Amino acid sequence: MNIAIKENLLAIREALPENVTLVAVSKTKSEAEILEAYTVGQRVFGENKIQEMSKKQETLPQDIEWHMIGHVQRNKVKYMASYVALIHGVDSLKLLQEIDKQAKKNDRIIPCLFQIHIAQESSKFGFNEEELEEMVQSGILDELNNVEIKGVMGMATFTDNMDQVRKEFRLLKAIFDKLLLQLPQLQVVSMGMSGDYPIAIEEGSNMVRIGSSIFGERNYSQ
Ligand SMILES: *Cc1c(COP(=O)(O)O)cnc(C)c1O
Repeated sequence: MNIAIKENLLAIREALPENVTLVAVSKTKSEAEILEAYTVGQRVFGENKIQEMSKKQETLPQDIEWHMIGHVQRNKVKYMASYVALIHGVDSLKLLQEIDKQAKKNDRIIPCLFQIHIAQESSKFGFNEEELEEMVQSGILDELNNVEIKGVMGMATFTDNMDQVRKEFRLLKAIFDKLLLQLPQLQVVSMGMSGDYPIAIEEGSNMVRIGSSIFGERNYSQ
C-alpha cells in the first residue's frame, strides 16, 4: 500500500477552494496506484496517451471520469469516444470536427476545452487568440452538435520565473472572459500543475491538473 499517495491527495484536496476541480494526473502510473487515490474518493483522472487511458479505463472502476489532457491525434479519437469525460487539448477545428463525428457514432455529446497557447515556448500546442476568435465568429461551431465546448485549457512556460507564469495564466483567464461573451455556456478554466497551481488558482483557475505532487515523480524509463 502506498500511504503517501493518499496523504498527498488528501492534503492537496484539503487546501483547494471548493470551486476548483482536481484532475489527478495518473499518466505512467499503475492501476494499483490509481486505486489508492480512488479509495480516498478521487474520481477524476487525467491521462495524456489515449492507448494507456483506454487500457486503464477497461479494468478500473467504471465510475472514474477520464480526462484526456495530452495532445490528441485525430486518428485516435475513436478509441476514447465512447467514454472520455473531457478532452482538454482541442487545438484545431479539424480535431473538433473529428471528435464531433466520433461522438455522434457513439450517440454522445463529448465535453471539450479549447487549448490555448499561452507559453513562450513554441513547442506547446494550442490556438492563439486570433485563430480562436476567428473560428468562434465564423459560426462553424454551431454545426457541431455532438461536442460541448466547456472552457479553456493552457500550460504556462516551464520556468522558475513565477511572474512570467502568473502573467500567462492571467492572459488565459482574460481570453476565457472574452470568449464567455460569445459562448455563455463556458465554465471551465483548466490551468495549473504541481509546480504552479496555487498561482493558477489565484489567477482564476477552477480546474487543476496535478500529477507528481500526488503520485510522486514519473519514471519514463519503464
Ligand atoms: C503531466 C501533465 C500535468 C501534470 O504535471 P505535474 O507537474 O506532474 O503535476 C498537467 N497537465 C498536463 C497537460 C500534463 O501533460
